[in-house]
Amino acid sequence: MNAQRSLDLAPEFNARVLRDVPMSKHTSWHAGGPADLYFAPRDIVDLAGFIHHLPAQMPLLWLGLGSNLLVRDGGIRGAVVATHGGLSALERMSATLIRAEAGVPCARIAKQCVKWGLGPAEFFAGIPGTLGGALAMNAGAFGGETWGHVIEVEVLDRRGVRHTRVPGDYQIGYRQVQGPANEWFIGARLKFARRAGVDGEAIREMLEKRRETQPIGQWSCGSVFINPPGEHAARLIESAGLKGFRIGDASVSGKHANFIINHGAARAADIEALIEHVRRTVETFHGVELHTEVRIVGEPAGGATPRPAGGAA
Ligand SMILES: Cc1cc2nc3c(=O)[nH]c(=O)nc-3n(C[C@H](O)[C@H](O)[C@H](O)COP(=O)(O)OP(=O)(O)OC[C@H]3O[C@@H](n4cnc5c(N)ncnc54)[C@H](O)[C@@H]3O)c2cc1C
Repeated sequence: MNAQRSLDLAPEFNARVLRDVPMSKHTSWHAGGPADLYFAPRDIVDLAGFIHHLPAQMPLLWLGLGSNLLVRDGGIRGAVVATHGGLSALERMSATLIRAEAGVPCARIAKQCVKWGLGPAEFFAGIPGTLGGALAMNAGAFGGETWGHVIEVEVLDRRGVRHTRVPGDYQIGYRQVQGPANEWFIGARLKFARRAGVDGEAIREMLEKRRETQPIGQWSCGSVFINPPGEHAARLIESAGLKGFRIGDASVSGKHANFIINHGAARAADIEALIEHVRRTVETFHGVELHTEVRIVGEPAGGATPRPAGGAA
């Protein structure tokens, strides 16, 4: 057994921490090896207690819905904290202010804001992750961006202590957020405008438009690469002749060239090799270096960590 797995945890958590959990069950690519430890907290207090008791040297990975995560086949050494399900509070604080915990799915925020007559929050319906993941990525869709609505965030540090931070504490860019090290999001206050007469139709139309242009329903992580300034990664990939290019059971989508599809049996190594192939081919064809939007984490099967593909590993 791995040294980290054999470490003693506090008794109140020992029975509730799962061991050797396949991350393929918790990522939208349905690929990836086992996490040594996997903890799904009941709520924020429970999570703070767990982190507080976790040995300080134990590596930690926070997980939302795994919709932007490639976990390598050797899995995760250390502990995974899964926010979805436990950190699930969503409430209206005032006429235009809401508070959501990190595990709330973005789609739920979109729907609830429509019910409350608040917006524009419909873009959240296009992001199949949690608020925590959306804060970490500055996720956006249909012209809206997560941090465009943030008033303040609640974070937990590595000792399990809660802090409140404001957007000025972070460097926020296109699909990029940098803030204090060793802190993770547990919730946020978001501001919207009052919009009488908004109904669910706008969401339905957006999702329909998306279904026409993206391979929704197939196993993917959405866009693999960040769009370079003034360009579309999908256009560069398609014009380099890569649509349909396949490694193992993974291929570049024929519908949207910035999506990589797992057709059922792809290993993370196949997906990562395909990412690297696309990156190199686009560089050769167009002289443009693509950087990954997806986060690549974990250990390769039985060996050393390969050179990261793209810039966001
Ligand atoms: C079909 C499809 C379509 C998509 N379309 C879009 C789109 O239009 N726009 C867009 O922006 N994205 C899109 N994505 C990508 C993805 O949904 C977003 O990046 C989303 O914000 C990830 O959220 P998650 O909860 O799944 O995060 P995860 O994939 O679980 O994690 C992503 C990263 O965030 C970190 N993280 C997760 N939770 C926390 C937390 N609480 N605190 C700190 N760090 C945390 C993780 O450690 C990891 O580094 C799409 C994905 C798919 C599969």
